[in-house]
Amino acid sequence: MKKRLMRLGCTLLMLPAAMAWAGDFKVTLLGTGVPNPRPDRFSQSTLVEAGSQKMVFDMGRGVSIRLWQAGIPMGSINAHFLTHFHSDHTIGVPDLWLTGWLQPPYGRRTSPFLIYGPKGTKALMDGLQSAYADDIKIRLVDERNPPAGIAVDAKEFEAPAVVYERDGVKVSSFVVDQGDDIKPSVGYKVEYRGRSVVMSDDTRLSSEVVRQATGADLLIHEVAVIAPDLLKRSPSFQRIFGHHTSPEEAGTVFARAKPKLAVYSHIARYGDAATPAPPEDAIVQQTRKTYDGPLLLGEDLMQFDIGETVTMSRIPASRNP
Ligand SMILES: [Zn+2]
Repeated sequence: MKKRLMRLGCTLLMLPAAMAWAGDFKVTLLGTGVPNPRPDRFSQSTLVEAGSQKMVFDMGRGVSIRLWQAGIPMGSINAHFLTHFHSDHTIGVPDLWLTGWLQPPYGRRTSPFLIYGPKGTKALMDGLQSAYADDIKIRLVDERNPPAGIAVDAKEFEAPAVVYERDGVKVSSFVVDQGDDIKPSVGYKVEYRGRSVVMSDDTRLSSEVVRQATGADLLIHEVAVIAPDLLKRSPSFQRIFGHHTSPEEAGTVFARAKPKLAVYSHIARYGDAATPAPPEDAIVQQTRKTYDGPLLLGEDLMQFDIGETVTMSRIPASRNP
């Protein structure tokens, strides 16, 4: 028996890396949109599964619904991370926190809701705890849900910093640039067994994203397009568009960083009644002016397997576990 185990051990050591890695590092886009309340693109959220760890980065609208579709119980998420405090990145926090505590199979959190973010994260969670105090009080008495599962463990950091390290998974934060009024604002890099995923967060063209994503397996980047007439006549849209990255600019980030795969999420298309927003196709076309490498326009429930190569599959939206 001992001999057989030793032989098995040697065989595992000799397996090609791709097989040894199969399925141990996955990224699922839970929300690829912006504040627009569209059912096909919920607002920003990304699930990263690496080894034993399940982590959610930003919790926009519908995050709990997409986790349900992905078959991931909310209570099984080990750690949650915020990039900044725009509502399209945080509005799903109370849903995930509160619903994830309920005891049906989709919830079942029994340990504190662990959340990391820049300064402001504790205030957000304190506010939610007072806003929902009556709900929590009633469910503790009535449903007898485990008290530890509704507790909050909010940890703030100042980027750049290594934020989380567990079971070989390392999450680090870096500073991105949304302009002077939107600070703090951070992106994240997740590293696991020699592979990495970088998430840009909302940012203008950022050399820090290039630096972080150089040699990365997967770069998830935001993007924004706007109808040219609207940009010309609207100071408010000039300000909003000024916080984001155009497809041509994102292409220069991808061309310099050369990730194995670049994927757009947080896809912003601005228009109004007089000047419709540019179509989604325009985003890839415009990117091609500056970048000719591997690129996908992200969709909710797209899943990426980070092995020796990066492969994409889709979780069916109709899935009802
Ligand atoms: Zn945003």
